[in-house]
Amino acid sequence: MPRILLVAATTGYQTRSFAAAAARRDIDVVLATDRCHVLEDPWGDRAIPVRFEEPEMAAEILSATPVDGIVAVADRPTLVAALTAEKLSLPFHPPAAVTACRDKHRMRELFGASGLPTPGHFRVAVDADPRKIAGHARFPCVLKPLGLSASRGVIRADNAAEFVAAFERIRRILEQPEIQQFHEEVNRAIQVEEYIEGREFALEGLMTRGEMEVLAIFDKPDPLQGPFFEETIYVTPSREPDAVQRAMIETTRRAVRALELWHGPVHAEMRVNADGVYMLEVAARPIGGLCARALRFEGGLTLEELVILHAIGEMPKSIALSIEQSRAASGVMMIPVPDAGIYESVSGISEARDIDGIEDIVITAKTGQKLVPLPEGASYVGFIFAGGASPAAVERSLRLAHARLRFEILASLDVLPVKSPDML
Ligand code: ADP
Ligand code: CA
Repeated sequence: MPRILLVAATTGYQTRSFAAAAARRDIDVVLATDRCHVLEDPWGDRAIPVRFEEPEMAAEILSATPVDGIVAVADRPTLVAALTAEKLSLPFHPPAAVTACRDKHRMRELFGASGLPTPGHFRVAVDADPRKIAGHARFPCVLKPLGLSASRGVIRADNAAEFVAAFERIRRILEQPEIQQFHEEVNRAIQVEEYIEGREFALEGLMTRGEMEVLAIFDKPDPLQGPFFEETIYVTPSREPDAVQRAMIETTRRAVRALELWHGPVHAEMRVNADGVYMLEVAARPIGGLCARALRFEGGLTLEELVILHAIGEMPKSIALSIEQSRAASGVMMIPVPDAGIYESVSGISEARDIDGIEDIVITAKTGQKLVPLPEGASYVGFIFAGGASPAAVERSLRLAHARLRFEILASLDVLPVKSPDML
């Protein structure tokens, strides 16, 4: 029985989807995580505890267990996965490449050096005085932490006052113990970038020894203009003309080459405007959360199955998306946190499920859980999945279903968003 190493930052839904996919394919799973102390951990003693902040040591420990392939779930585990793969001589992305993917400054430098269209950008130490720096920025601009994800801490500023407020707000996010505990160099600086106008897309790819195959292109039909960038709806296939889709694929190929990504899944995000395609970032992992459920490949394969089979060198010949007439398009809505507070309950789920095209609704928030909206927060309350005859129909279904959900959030003093005086 082949065996796979799953390196995961959480023992949550996405990790369980991977474990279930492996089980369906008769592939044994070894889980490595830094969250073994979590009480509700269903893995119990079967998980290998590692510390992601000591990647070399973690890889040393993990390489003692022989496996046939490695999969990293989420961003933080990619380095440990890459180092372990190197020790076991398994094909994966190189450590330097996954490190670059987790550093938004390094990534921009590599893109720029390889001739990709790149917005003007610079990096500032988190303890710098933003009043002295605001004058160097061209507005509008975007300020962002270098190493966080899911748009956490990403803020648009249109003038110097907004720049200062955004900078201080990001600094407070980076000062939280939850982030400080990782002692990561990348969390000691803030990136400033020119704002790139345009429509936004995501491309899901799978690389085999340097060559990338495109699994799907997603449109993000919501206008993402800031000041915060809440991603909600992803719909595939893209409604863009072929020429634009080809340009997105070409830019992604150049971006993964610039980063020297090599083997395994990639998730790229870009903006397209009259000037062309601007890569926002590439992650060395598959699409996050439960979004993978919006994809289904030939033979009924899920993305998790595909990624696992690919990791053990048994990728199926054809990896075309499975398309049926009635489900020519599919999509997912990441349900944003509606308000800061304590999650109590949701109603309207069955009414939302009744909407034509809705395939599933999964609420991931737990009663009593603290909810923090962007830019401080980093999670969603759940996911809505839809399929339909066209991307427009899918988008409509998702919006209608979302409108029927009513979340009950209890106010709680300690989760009021931290606002700077300028933003009150
Ligand atoms: P994260 O890793 O947190 O997702 P990103 O760099 O992808 O960080 O930024 C999150 C979102 O913020 C993007 O999806 C995009 O909508 C917006 N964004 C980031 N950088 C820019 C930029 N330079 N111009 C315009 N929008 C941006
Ligand atoms: Ca992103």
